[in-house]
Amino acid sequence: MKIPFSPPYIDEDVISEVVDSLKSGWITTGPKVRDLEKEVAKLSGVEYVACINSWTSGATLILKWFNIGPGDEVILPAYTYAATALVVLHAGAKPVMVDVNDDFTINSDEVAKAITAKTKAIFSVDFAGYPCNYDQLNAVIESKKELFQANSDEQNKLNRILLISDAAHSIGAKVQGKPVAVFSDICIYSFHAVKNLTTAEGGAICVNLPQPFNQEEEYKWLKLNSLNGQTKDAFAKSQAGSWRYDIVSQGLKINMPDISAAIGLAQLRKYDGTLLPKRREIYKLYNSKFGKYDWFQSPPFDEDNRSTSAHLFPLRIKGITEEMRDEIIQLISKKDISVNVHFIPLPMLSLFKNKGYNIKAYPRTYNNYSREISLPIYPQLGEKEVDFIVETIVESVNKVIK
Ligand SMILES: *Cc1c(COP(=O)(O)O)cnc(C)c1O
Repeated sequence: MKIPFSPPYIDEDVISEVVDSLKSGWITTGPKVRDLEKEVAKLSGVEYVACINSWTSGATLILKWFNIGPGDEVILPAYTYAATALVVLHAGAKPVMVDVNDDFTINSDEVAKAITAKTKAIFSVDFAGYPCNYDQLNAVIESKKELFQANSDEQNKLNRILLISDAAHSIGAKVQGKPVAVFSDICIYSFHAVKNLTTAEGGAICVNLPQPFNQEEEYKWLKLNSLNGQTKDAFAKSQAGSWRYDIVSQGLKINMPDISAAIGLAQLRKYDGTLLPKRREIYKLYNSKFGKYDWFQSPPFDEDNRSTSAHLFPLRIKGITEEMRDEIIQLISKKDISVNVHFIPLPMLSLFKNKGYNIKAYPRTYNNYSREISLPIYPQLGEKEVDFIVETIVESVNKVIK
């Protein structure tokens, strides 16, 4: 039995939505993107959502918008995908990495210690789909308000550190029964091919800035600046008689095409009702099947008023070393099951190591990483496959730890 790690969910409805876009005579940003934005906004409990062509480009636009650059610091967990730190480097600012909790999310005490007068933003990563402790993060930001030094209109308007949620994993996740997007200022999803909801490549920015920010105006700014700062997008310009446009700001070119939005739109219609519950079912199945083994450490599911979108099943095995973990993965791979490790901590990657980051400063990050194996989890997976995966993992673990 060959089991892939994370195949995209493509059914007849996805295919016919894409075909509809192809046959409509319009394939780049247009009505399907607008529909997707509305649906994502509904799911996220916010009024406005702007789709872009990746999480990375969306985060880049947000840092640019808030004029975060050289001399500024942005706090993020050492345990995340590289993109979270790369966007900070692209902006010319300094990524300040902090350690995580046992539940994989950013540690608020470490965040508080890392805040300086140069701190302009914090990226909170909802690792595996389990939300960060937003109450704590917002309280930390509030408690450090005196330190904050604004150096742009937007920063002035907010007058505190900007909280950006890296929600690449957490569309559909909830905190106190509410969508995760309402607990930060800006929440960015990734719709990359392996994520819970996909547009092949893509992402979405949920706008949730407090007063005096005007949500509709912020949405318009984001749309304008995700398409060259151009006053009319190609769809508007294509209407007879509306050829004239202006370029009013130095925007990026990061818009999502309709043909991509079509994939996400068809998936989204089933997300809350089918796709997400299916993922969470598999998560529970793993938890119950592994439950009897004393080496098993269950990942957070529904705890502390937070509920996961089950993007990953990050299995941790108690008492093993990184080398043993690697051996276990080799044994699993021989059975044609694809697994992964999320993530190689940033300080262990050459780019960041060469900049002086050292994994020794992030003991909980290393501890989680060294014992972690991400198992296949997606709606197409049946119980038979889950049984085979569990059986194979148990066999492999027992061989290595005996
Ligand atoms: C996938 C991912 C990203 C990047 O998303 P893209 O859409 O590929 O740019 C950022 N952060 C995390 C935690 C991710 O897993």
